[in-house]
Amino acid sequence: MTKEKILVADDEPYVLDICERILEKDFAVKIVRSGLEAIQVAQHERFDLLLTDIKMPGIDGLETTREIKKIHPNIVCVTMTGYSTMETAIKALRLGIDEFVIKPFAPEELLLALERALEKEHLRQENIRLKSLLPLFEFNKSLAGISDPHVLFGKVLDLALSETNAQLGALYVYNSQGRLSFLTQANFQTEDLAVLAADNFAFLQQAGSAPLQLTAQPESDLPFAPIPAKLRVNSIVAIPLMGKERSVGVVALAKKTGDSFSQSELNFLSVLSGQAAVAYENARLLEDLQNTNEQLKVLDHLKSEFINLAAHELRTPLAILMGYASVVEEEVTGLHKDYLKIITRNAMRLRSLIEDLLNMRHIEAGQLEFSVSPIRIDEIIAQSMVDVAILAREKNIQLETSLPEDLPVIDFDRQKLELIIMNLLTNAIKFTPAKGKVSLSGKIAKDHLEFSVQDTGIGIPEKEFPRIFERFYQIENSLNREHNGIGLGLSIVKGIIDQYGGEIWVDSKPEKGSIFTFTLPYSLPGGES
Ligand code: ADP
Repeated sequence: MTKEKILVADDEPYVLDICERILEKDFAVKIVRSGLEAIQVAQHERFDLLLTDIKMPGIDGLETTREIKKIHPNIVCVTMTGYSTMETAIKALRLGIDEFVIKPFAPEELLLALERALEKEHLRQENIRLKSLLPLFEFNKSLAGISDPHVLFGKVLDLALSETNAQLGALYVYNSQGRLSFLTQANFQTEDLAVLAADNFAFLQQAGSAPLQLTAQPESDLPFAPIPAKLRVNSIVAIPLMGKERSVGVVALAKKTGDSFSQSELNFLSVLSGQAAVAYENARLLEDLQNTNEQLKVLDHLKSEFINLAAHELRTPLAILMGYASVVEEEVTGLHKDYLKIITRNAMRLRSLIEDLLNMRHIEAGQLEFSVSPIRIDEIIAQSMVDVAILAREKNIQLETSLPEDLPVIDFDRQKLELIIMNLLTNAIKFTPAKGKVSLSGKIAKDHLEFSVQDTGIGIPEKEFPRIFERFYQIENSLNREHNGIGLGLSIVKGIIDQYGGEIWVDSKPEKGSIFTFTLPYSLPGGES
């Protein structure tokens, strides 16, 4: 830790010598032999504490304190005196002297007095820090929902000015080309802003990641030293608006009169600018997200329109093709008949793909229509089992059905129920290796019917459970897919079941198999519950 700096002024050399010996272990000490010398040194160097004799030839201790306080208002002041009259004590207190030490003193007495004085100053600083937290807290609360940078940084500037008693302020943010651009300001003249903008905002850019203060003191060797004079101000500070990773801008504040910006004010401004910068970044992120979201919606709409159009356009030539194929199939024999069967089977696959696309489009648009009539589910299941038997046979997969005897007749759309069951069964067969087993079971619950399709297939990792019901989602990467399909089946199945008021879910273990269960709402006859 850097040592605190003490300036000791006394005209008696042996007192200076003693003070230096006592203090040099704990502090960085500078000794001077007169008030005048102390003032001169203080003009170029900042000290934490001034220890001065009261009675000195020329400028006395009280006068020295007064002058040095003008330069460094927060300096802690301790006086040494051989005697202390009531009058000098009152005068000293008025000047803001923090402690007295009566000469002659023991080393511990001097150290104690200095520690007490410094401690008072630390407490004062702490107090200021705590007080400054309140406006920061209020400011933070008021940020919620502000996305307009002018409103956000307008608030920042107002608060920065009022909490530091600065009169002038200007705020700049980096644009997309990484250049500072003006955003808002208070009380600067146009020509003042030109001073700040000089050399591509060189002064403001200099405050890379920490506040940079210039005062009207003669610091002519420093770069930018003429700026306070040009702006006719006592002090000016540039504070970077530090976001999460980089500075998003700079705020410049200036005081025309009074003290320069104290350390606690600079701390306050750093925290304030940091909060504002993060709020600004968050608002930008939200805006980007909203824009991307809008773009995605447009793209999604375009995609749906394209799918709709393509599916409709494909339907007619396919129907013609299938029609002629079946006519020709009637008339040919032998090998040609088999070829035509293959053509028809593949044309039917194509038709079911097109229907999937159109169904998806209707589900998305909320235009799925149900053509409801009383249906016997056991019949539909039996027919579906016959339809998929050929697929199962090809892989030597055992099919099994277990349904309650008294499955009721329910009002549902026949085609849609066929689609649900066929999708689940073909998936189960598709994702089950040869010699496995696929079974379909059902049960009657209080307010719904429940059906499960279970397989002994490759299974599904738990993290994929919700995603497999999304449109076009397939667990296998499309580049190394082993199974056919376009990833629409389950999302259509879910869309239909959801719209009907039922539910569908999956339970599975990789390499062990999966079980897809869906429910259809149903009331027991007579309103029993
Ligand atoms: P498709 O079968 O056309 O790929 P689906 O929407 O029917 O599309 O299924 C989506 C994905 O869910 C499949 O690609 C597969 O990764 C996974 N899946 C569906 N059913 C099963 C199953 N029974 N066993 C293992 N994975 C399955």
